Amino acid sequence: MAVGDILSTHRAALGFMALGAALAISAGAVFQSMRQPEPIVAGPGVTRQSMLGDLAPSLAGGPGDTPVFELVGAEPGPTVMILGGTHPQEIAGMMAAVLLVENVTVKKGRLIVVPQANRSGFTHTDPMEAYLHTFEVPTPGGTRWFRVGMRLTNPADQWPDPDIFVHKPSGEGMVGHEQRNLNRVHPGSATGWLTSRVSAALTGLAGQSDVVFDLHEAQPEYPVINMMVVHERAFETAATAVGNLEARRIPMGLSASPKNLHGLSHREFGDFTKAEAMLAESANPAMGRFRGRTSDDLVVGGHDANYEAAARLGRLFVKFDQNGWPLKLRVARHVAAIEEVINAYNELNPDKQIVVENIPAYKDINDKGLGAFLKPPPATKS
Ligand SMILES: [Zn+2]
Repeated sequence: MAVGDILSTHRAALGFMALGAALAISAGAVFQSMRQPEPIVAGPGVTRQSMLGDLAPSLAGGPGDTPVFELVGAEPGPTVMILGGTHPQEIAGMMAAVLLVENVTVKKGRLIVVPQANRSGFTHTDPMEAYLHTFEVPTPGGTRWFRVGMRLTNPADQWPDPDIFVHKPSGEGMVGHEQRNLNRVHPGSATGWLTSRVSAALTGLAGQSDVVFDLHEAQPEYPVINMMVVHERAFETAATAVGNLEARRIPMGLSASPKNLHGLSHREFGDFTKAEAMLAESANPAMGRFRGRTSDDLVVGGHDANYEAAARLGRLFVKFDQNGWPLKLRVARHVAAIEEVINAYNELNPDKQIVVENIPAYKDINDKGLGAFLKPPPATKS
């Protein structure tokens, strides 16, 4: 081989090495930036802000650690726990929890709100799905930003997955990656994998609660949609809440938690604690298989021409027209469901009242948008 050829071969190799290093460094910067937490501002009703790791030291400061907001009334009463972000791409659940944290006050009883139950899941997105990393909400005081995550714990935080995940204590077998699905590992174990330890800490909080309400979303082609799924001990409260929602023309279905489907919050919190356990699903087209490009208009606006076509063909379990399913409507539904669960609990338990004030109204969230109920962005550190 001529000297010139050797040099040019080396030049090409060095070029590829430099390109590889540049890609690795820029990818590293993106991955690192996805660990930066979005601001959630404690509103006037928050009496204590702590971290889940304060309850479960093995989580402290790690990727599963997450803020816990408590809103305690001056008078004693029951405790209601709200979970958002069990599945971090189901953003209406997180945003409904954030709206509570930033707006409501509690006169009687206690609210515990965990907006990002699986915080590790907020640090990555589904591979090959071209999800947005973040979305923005304009507020009168500036633009707030929030993350879109993924259903599962980040594999960088919990790896490897087994071939088959065996849920404890039921012994039910599931596909291996479900070991990173917070809503398949409940009630969790304090000595288990990361997701299981997050679950165990949340089960501990559920043990302090009278009602636990876990907020989710699903694709419009999924049958369990615009529906509450509830443990048998929560059925009376949930049925009363659903009746009240229907009377307000907010359609909501009701489904019983299957007894042999394990690891889910509405099953395990109900079986392993005294809490009434329930879950709600709203319709998120950004998660669906029929969707087009994953744009801001889809993620926040909830519009998608493919879904309009699917609805015309009768393939969906919800209506879908040019109005779509905007994030503000999905959040308004979750917040209204929380409000009616609280009303129902009070109706059924006259001697155990929880009084929560300034819950953003369904109509106002839809008319004014989410930004009207969010604090201005906190000043960034310089
Ligand atoms: Zn979910």
